[in-house]
Amino acid sequence: MRCSIKELLRGDGVLPFSCELDPAELEFPSILRYESPLTAKGTIRSSAGLLTLTGETRVSLRCICDRCGREYDREAVEKLDTVLVTEHQDEEDPDVFLVQDDCVDLDEIITTAFVLGLDSKTLCRPDCKGVCPRCGHNLNDGPCACRPEADSPFAVLGQLFNAEE
Ligand SMILES: [Zn+2]
Ligand SMILES: [Zn+2]
Repeated sequence: MRCSIKELLRGDGVLPFSCELDPAELEFPSILRYESPLTAKGTIRSSAGLLTLTGETRVSLRCICDRCGREYDREAVEKLDTVLVTEHQDEEDPDVFLVQDDCVDLDEIITTAFVLGLDSKTLCRPDCKGVCPRCGHNLNDGPCACRPEADSPFAVLGQLFNAEE
């Protein structure tokens, strides 16, 4: 959605916004599907010649854990905190967006915040224990019947040393 900020370009002021978009085309290996639209709300503020946009984005996801492969639900909430400029700047700053024809491209800002926020959050839980490399048992459900020592290369070394004694 494009949002006209003509009034804000004339002087100080605050403009609330809320919008939603279909995230279906944003494909990531760890996201099985989107359970809700990608929504955003916040305010665009003009103060002393500086234009800022703050707020948050929210979407419900069905994800797959990177470590154990289990499916899980997650609500992804990302902060919006960007600066809007009316002229292109030389540097590529992901927190700076260009105002074109007195309009802000909310879709671009929301999508960027969501994508940047996705990194390193694809575990079913922060301390996911993964699966046993021998039997495939999901170790979040408790230990499996395999003897854990047998998987460690150090355990093998230990056995060698013991044999030499
Ligand atoms: Zn997991
Ligand atoms: Zn096992």
